[in-house]
Amino acid sequence: MPAKVDMDKIVSLCKRRGLIFPSSEIYGGLASCWDYGPMGVELKRNVRDAWWKAIVHERDDVVGLDTSIMMHPGVWAASGHIDSFTDPLVECKSCHLRWRADAVEGKRCPKCGGELTEPRMFNLMFKTSMGPVEEEASTVYLRPETAQGIFVNFDNVITTSRKKLPLGIAQIGKSFRNEITPGNFVFRTREFEHMELEYFVKPGTDEKWLDYWVKERFDWYVRLGIRKENLRLRQHGKDELAHYARDCYDIEYLFPMGWSELEGIANRGDFDLIQHAKCSGRELIYYDAEAGEKYIPYVIEPSAGVDRSVLAFLIDAYDEEEVEGEKRTLLHLHRGLAPVKVAVLPLSRNEKLTPLAKEVFNKLCTNFVTDYDDSQSIGRRYRRQDEIGTPFCVTIDFESLEDKQVTIRERDSLAQIRVPMEELGKILEAKLEGEAFDASPLWATREK
Ligand code: ATP
Repeated sequence: MPAKVDMDKIVSLCKRRGLIFPSSEIYGGLASCWDYGPMGVELKRNVRDAWWKAIVHERDDVVGLDTSIMMHPGVWAASGHIDSFTDPLVECKSCHLRWRADAVEGKRCPKCGGELTEPRMFNLMFKTSMGPVEEEASTVYLRPETAQGIFVNFDNVITTSRKKLPLGIAQIGKSFRNEITPGNFVFRTREFEHMELEYFVKPGTDEKWLDYWVKERFDWYVRLGIRKENLRLRQHGKDELAHYARDCYDIEYLFPMGWSELEGIANRGDFDLIQHAKCSGRELIYYDAEAGEKYIPYVIEPSAGVDRSVLAFLIDAYDEEEVEGEKRTLLHLHRGLAPVKVAVLPLSRNEKLTPLAKEVFNKLCTNFVTDYDDSQSIGRRYRRQDEIGTPFCVTIDFESLEDKQVTIRERDSLAQIRVPMEELGKILEAKLEGEAFDASPLWATREK
């Protein structure tokens, strides 16, 4: 099944509408680094918030955490990242470009044809120095995942949260990986944001919880608007499992370059707690006072990327259609994810309309992310809002001055309803919570 949109169209829309810009652009950019613009920062925040709400706030068996990016180097020795977080690389002897050994055929550089070295292992962690002296002892790593911050705090959380197992600890934060083949826009970058849950369970119940979380996470994407037919599950083969994993499923999305991982859900067993207990000398055990038993919990880990999710939501929402002979590009983003919820658009920049329109804006912006736009023609302003996925536009026209009513226009159906200004806030709130847009023929019209 072909993907319906090219990545180029997404990249160009993101640039055009202030969602995502190439990083350091005025200096020519920095490979695979991207900056989120005024619309992108809202979208990204909404994705994070939707995850946090579903994983932490709407449950009583998960708590949150925010740990530091730089951690004791012993953490990475214990976790296996120093020894195992490596890819075999070959380097071109002429242009010195490095390639993943499994991505090149033959012994010649795909770029310049130069001779390639034998494969060498290359660690994907970024190193830096802590403190004023650069010496081996001060080497620290930028974390390649947020999970280890959770494992090393297991005991702190268990003893302070007064919760029983099964218990999850969730974290959202930046991770860094010196990826050899970054690319496909924000799909794979060297700096990205993780949303990770470590769900600690009693051994023996782990398979049940793995199934539970696979379903839960799959449904989360569907609830937020991704079409089911663009998602699929793939179980890792035994030869493919990471060194810590007993079992693992990928949720894959049909990206423009083909089916690719969107999120991984792994059964990490007791690998991490055992390793950290061994290497730190601290006991990491759960004591179930009621049952009078002690055990080392197993861990189920749903691990997702904020940026990769943002990309999937954008791709799935992208649409082009023809309205009255003109092309309309729009994002059918879920209303919870849309960067702007309501746009206030006075029919024109007119001294009589402006005060009323500003009044409407000032009221709405305390409740919803609201945009005010009075430049250019109303048609062009609608198009701009469509392209960033704004669910509702509120138009103030000359009649509004008389009857104190305004028009709400719905993004997907283009239906319009006229409502009293006084009720606008309440009506929009209900619509943003999912109430149907009542396009009853008596008082609704379609945009001409
Ligand atoms: P991939 O093989 O696709 O790079 P991975 O299997 O190494 O991913 P995990 O370690 O399982 O990824 O990380 C969990 C999630 O974090 C991924 O499913 C993805 O959404 C996100 N992620 C991982 N690496 C990157 C990256 N370099 N850039 C953006 N997102 C990433």
